[in-house]
Amino acid sequence: MIDVLLLGVGAMVPLPDRWLSSVLVRAGGSLILFDCGEGTQVIWRRFGWGFKRLAAICLTHQHADHVAGLPGLFHTVANSGRTEPLDIFGPQGIQAIVDGLRVIAPDLPYEVRVHELDDGDEFRLPDGLIGRVTVGNHRVRVLAYRVERPRAPVFEAERARNAGVPTHLWSDLQRGHPVTVDGRTVQPDVVLGPPRRGVAFAFVTDTRPVPGHAEVANSVDLLICEGTYGPSEKLATAIQNGHMTFAEAATIARDADAGELWLTHFGTGLTDPGEFLSEATAIFPRTRVGFTGLAASLTFRHGLQPLATGA
Ligand SMILES: [Zn+2]
Ligand SMILES: [Zn+2]
Repeated sequence: MIDVLLLGVGAMVPLPDRWLSSVLVRAGGSLILFDCGEGTQVIWRRFGWGFKRLAAICLTHQHADHVAGLPGLFHTVANSGRTEPLDIFGPQGIQAIVDGLRVIAPDLPYEVRVHELDDGDEFRLPDGLIGRVTVGNHRVRVLAYRVERPRAPVFEAERARNAGVPTHLWSDLQRGHPVTVDGRTVQPDVVLGPPRRGVAFAFVTDTRPVPGHAEVANSVDLLICEGTYGPSEKLATAIQNGHMTFAEAATIARDADAGELWLTHFGTGLTDPGEFLSEATAIFPRTRVGFTGLAASLTFRHGLQPLATGA
């Protein structure tokens, strides 16, 4: 199961009633944060998910509304008692950005490990989650993220017995390793059922649509995508600034066959995003206007389920 919580939905500057766009993910005993603009740790506190379990931060790009909250968060995570390493993922060049921000947060009781990712890279996240990125098209290098929890195929005991595999070797096969029985090799596919669908979500922001988005968002249960501009009349401005309209975000969701779309990263001129929701739902009906506290659990059995956060 993966829990996904929208912390903020704003672009450029935090406003009194709108925090900057970021997403917090809870998987097993770990937390993973996507982007960290100014004030992210303040709104995070409202939900009681804690800071100590923050194991990874995935940054889309270096613009201040996505990274300026890092030094303060580093201190808060330190105060929470974390001593295990913290992994930061981001596009090429993000090491220099993190190093710069660390000048004002140099002494931490845990190691900060930065990993620069390139187009198509796959990487491991805590709790068995698999991450994958695609490079977008913004004014600086930007990554879109896919996070997936794979689901193991069913182990078919009857087939294992028929193949003469003793029970003490079953767990090896279950984990996908071949075993040797009386001098012959038994492959896992002999005893495992067909592949089963896992759960996945994607985070796409600060980018023009690119073909790679269809891949990172392919069949995800949840796509969180920027809609910096509501009306399609703003398309020229969106193109100029390297952003998207609601209709463009909905088109990505539709083409990728996403389960649900949550819009985020609303421009400061977009005071009531709900006014333009129909621009998206006309293309992809299962679209919601994102807000602080909007959350869901992604489960193997039931897909996306609403999650109450008290917000
Ligand atoms: Zn931004
Ligand atoms: Zn940006």
